[in-house]
Amino acid sequence: ITIYVPRDSTAIALGANEVASAIVAEAEERGIPIKLIRNGSRGMFWLEPLVEVATAAGRIGYGPVELEDIAGLFEANFINGGDHALALGLVDQIPYLQKQERLTFARVGITDPVSLDDYLAHEGYAGLQKALSITPEAIVQEVLDSGLRGRGGAAFPTGIKWKTVANAQAGQKYIVCNADEGDSGTFSDRMVMEDDPFVLIEGMTIAALAVGATQGYIYVRSEYPHAIAALNEAIAVANARHYLGANICASGKTFFLEVRKGAGSYVCGEETALLESLEGKRGMVRAKPPLPALEGLFGKPTVINNVISLASVPIILARGGAFYKNYGIGRSLGTLPMQLAGNIKFGGLVEKAFGVTLRELLFDFGGGTASGRPIRAVQVGGPLGPYLPESLFDTKIDYESFSAVGGTVGHGGIVVFDETVDMAKQARYAMEFCAVESCGKCTPCRIGSTRGVEVIDKIVAGSAAGYDQPKQVDLLRDLCDTMINGSLCAMGNMTPLPVLSALNNFPEDFGIEAVPAV
Ligand code: SF4
Repeated sequence: ITIYVPRDSTAIALGANEVASAIVAEAEERGIPIKLIRNGSRGMFWLEPLVEVATAAGRIGYGPVELEDIAGLFEANFINGGDHALALGLVDQIPYLQKQERLTFARVGITDPVSLDDYLAHEGYAGLQKALSITPEAIVQEVLDSGLRGRGGAAFPTGIKWKTVANAQAGQKYIVCNADEGDSGTFSDRMVMEDDPFVLIEGMTIAALAVGATQGYIYVRSEYPHAIAALNEAIAVANARHYLGANICASGKTFFLEVRKGAGSYVCGEETALLESLEGKRGMVRAKPPLPALEGLFGKPTVINNVISLASVPIILARGGAFYKNYGIGRSLGTLPMQLAGNIKFGGLVEKAFGVTLRELLFDFGGGTASGRPIRAVQVGGPLGPYLPESLFDTKIDYESFSAVGGTVGHGGIVVFDETVDMAKQARYAMEFCAVESCGKCTPCRIGSTRGVEVIDKIVAGSAAGYDQPKQVDLLRDLCDTMINGSLCAMGNMTPLPVLSALNNFPEDFGIEAVPAV
């Protein structure tokens, strides 16, 4: 009898460790031999801890399981798929999962994350085997053909980045994974690292073969201890079984990989600040050029990609670029693991091909707000994304459609707010966040964000406090304009997006009449 209880940190936060221990103890007491596997999370967080039992028909789920449910589950013979109030039927057939197109997340929640044998049994390392059988140029071509674009937010074509590094002449090249997932409401990188770390390791190894790099680093934010532990465990196994290190799979190729822990700075998610931090310096943004692809880590040609970009590579190599580009629309090809968070009834991970609408995600998957009140605003793409009103919910999620309405897909994080939200406070928070997290290199971001907080306070205080509201609104728009055009990186030039979208779409929250944007 095989029982699965997730080891993902969301499940752990909801009591999965205690539930796992209690199931083992109860089985022992009843003299029932069981095998307990700590799998990853399926990404349906409202059901965690989600306990699954392997049966001849497939895996039957029960959730959310609490400690006091366990005796009753045994009484109901759940180990053989027996009926119970928490029974969910076959997990694969839960509509939330069934409606998804899981490519990058194909194994997540199914396998034991740190079992290489489980990984191999589920198409693991098929991409690497393919990569080892073709030339580096052919690997790059496959990634180019797939249409994969950077999933960290910038959406730059991954294959072009790789080609630049491959063509650079240098004695040493690096592969760096940006795992500093700091955007509010995002957790897809974390889930990959905790729940299927081998897929990231495989993707980085393929990148190394493609460009001729022999050393890689995964830069993980310090707030992800479970991800760091899972990665280190998987890297040790991959080294021991010769999927990493010298002479990978007896090919004569070499790739060493290490995990590095960040120190809590949001701006270290910006690739050049990340490289500075990795070099042991303060995480300050570098001016570009030179591009990291030519002068990156320690001045050497460096591929720096986000976790999801790299984790999407194994399936592209295993099944071909043409297979991957069959998903998606226009120039947004493949799938995007989207993350539903904030005030949402069914929060979790939804991997879909580009082209799904925001409304489908919010209602067909998310089920509306957790509070039951109407959705008033949605922030897509992290704390630097604009607040979108209901009138934009039919926008397709793809880079071009979002850009056309002034939005940003970013890293696929979707944070939901109901009608009780105060959008002036959200705008103030955006400026405050920038003031706290600014690396301090350029004036519009460092000083402008602090002035921005003050100006928003004056608009809200209004004439009752002696402020000329229209004048303050003009000042805020001017300030945003300066930040957009005068800042060195996205932190400064995107912070105005949430601020201006709140002001333009929800002027009543600032105590002002609707004013046409200039
Ligand atoms: Fe640093 Fe802000 Fe300038 Fe970016 S915009 S370089 S975070 S000061």
